[in-house]
Parts: sequence; C-alpha cells; structure tokens
Amino acid sequence: MIDSLINLFSNVQAWIFQVAVQPLMFHLGFSEYIEDAFDGVEWFLIGVCELIVLFIILRPLESAIPVHPISDKRARWIDFLYTVIQRLGAFSVLIFFLIDPVVAQLTEWFHLEGIHPFNLENLWPGITDRPLVTFLVYLVVLDFFDYWYHRAQHSFGWMWGLHSLHHSQQNMNLWSDDRNHLLDDLIRDIFMALIAIAIGVEPSQYVLLVAASRMLQSLQHANVRIHFGKLGDAIVVSPRFHRWHHAIGIGHESKGKGSLGGHNFGVLFSFWDVLFRTAFFGKTFERTGIRDQLPIPLGKERNYGSGFWEQQWLGLKHMVEFGRKPRR
Ligand SMILES: [Zn+2]
Ligand SMILES: [Zn+2]
Repeated sequence: MIDSLINLFSNVQAWIFQVAVQPLMFHLGFSEYIEDAFDGVEWFLIGVCELIVLFIILRPLESAIPVHPISDKRARWIDFLYTVIQRLGAFSVLIFFLIDPVVAQLTEWFHLEGIHPFNLENLWPGITDRPLVTFLVYLVVLDFFDYWYHRAQHSFGWMWGLHSLHHSQQNMNLWSDDRNHLLDDLIRDIFMALIAIAIGVEPSQYVLLVAASRMLQSLQHANVRIHFGKLGDAIVVSPRFHRWHHAIGIGHESKGKGSLGGHNFGVLFSFWDVLFRTAFFGKTFERTGIRDQLPIPLGKERNYGSGFWEQQWLGLKHMVEFGRKPRR
C-alpha cells in the first residue's frame, strides 16, 4: 500500500515536471537549475497532499467539536490563501531559488573544510542506520531551535512586529498556522534549513520532517476542542496548549515565573516550555488575539489588517515601529 502510494507520488512528480516545469525552465533559460526545479515539484506535491489531508480530517472535526463559532469567515478565507501560498507556491519557489543553491554551496564548503558542526552521525555513530530513530532525533533537535526562534519572535521588538500578524487572528482555524508575514517565513525557513544542514539532515528526510511538522502545527491551530490529557499536553503541543499561546494576556504579554514574558512557545513539543519554565496549562479553550486589538481605551484598538496586502504592509510598518520601541 505505502509502496504503491510512493510510486504514484513519483509518477505524478515526473509527469508534472516533464509536461509543465521542464519546458517552462528551458523557455525561460533556466536549464542549469533543472535539478532544483525537480525538488521544487516534490515540495509542491507534498503541499497538495497536506492540503487534501487537512481538509478531509480537520474540517469535519471543526464542524463537530468547535471551540467557538467562526464570526469572520473572510478572515478564515485569507488564512486559507496563506496556506496555499506557503505550502504550494512560495515555499517551493523559495527552496528552488534560494535554499537549495545555498545549501549545496554550504554543504560543499563544510565538506572541503572538513567541518561537521553538530553532525549527529559523528556524535552518535550508527544512528543514521536506524531511519525511525534518526527521524525522531532530528525532529526533537530541530524543534529545540524552533522553540528558541519562536521565543525570539516574542522578545525582540522588530521580530514581534512581523510575528504579531500571526497572533492577530481572532478566529483561529486549521489554516491559521500559515498566517505569517512573508519576510518572517523567509527568515525562519532559512534559519531552520541552515540548522538542518549543520546537524546533517539529508534533503529527502528534510521534506518529510517539514511535512510532519506542518501537519501537527495545522492541528494545533484548528478550531477544535482537543487536548492530550495532563501528561500528553506536557509532552506534545495540543490545540488547547497552543490556544493558550494565542490567548490575550497569556501567550505574549504575561510575565510568568522565570519567563521573559509570554508562554507556550513550543512548536511541536511542549516539554521545552516545561524545561525552560514558560509552560502554562489551562483547562479552558480561550479566545485569541492581541491585547491592543481590544477597543480599550475606546477607539484606540490597533489594526493588524484584514486583507492579505494590508496585513503584509502593516507587518512591515510594525516591524519598524516595534523595533524602535518594543510593545508588550
Ligand atoms: Zn507566537
Ligand atoms: Zn500559532
């Protein structure tokens, strides 16, 4: 079954490449990037599969066990647009034009210089012979860096200026994971790809690691009353745990014990929050948003934008404004 699905995937990838991408590449004079374009098609197809699975599994769940009724359907539609852009378009193009060439050059340079920064195979010889163990170890190591990147997004004014767009969704739903500023996505994608090279992740594994991570993150944002129990929530980020990260006054603004401000920064695993004392476990499912979106004082609420371009423009403005004078 899995073999025939993998076969089908490879055949569709080859077909799209031959029929559409290859002729276009030659036509545009990009023939030297032809191999990178083949990888780009793989990312595109993975994105299509993700969208189908999310729609089949999470949409019915959102109807069956919603946290709150969606009051702004347009806001959800814009989030869907972000998901399409990020998972089908922007990411594939980004991988193709920017990350793949940079990764190839850096890998070659590391190889020539004999540098293996934190290569897991050197630290734990034989680990790469066990694919499932390797996959899980990479998932945990990458998530450790993701935790700190996310924490930085809430600590530095200019980073919060961009990331606040993600938090401004007051109707959080299964597409909200991708509601990010494009510049924010670009910086994070490059940061994570560089970490992946440093620890020796193979490109074929990286595709699967990113896909697994994105699926879990979509679940966390879904408008569903799901948690993993007391112990489960302390290990893996559940929809309830992540909703507290988006809750007004808790996720970004509050100062917990030993915390710089804000809670629940874990991307896949919540045990980082437990370990670094930023975890907050609440039993309810909170409303989401940012404190300065509330009309207090009356008429003084901050606008984070409702349409795609307005959000992107305001994100840049907030980056400059909060970078000068951080807001909590
Ligand atoms: Zn955040
Ligand atoms: Zn989120």
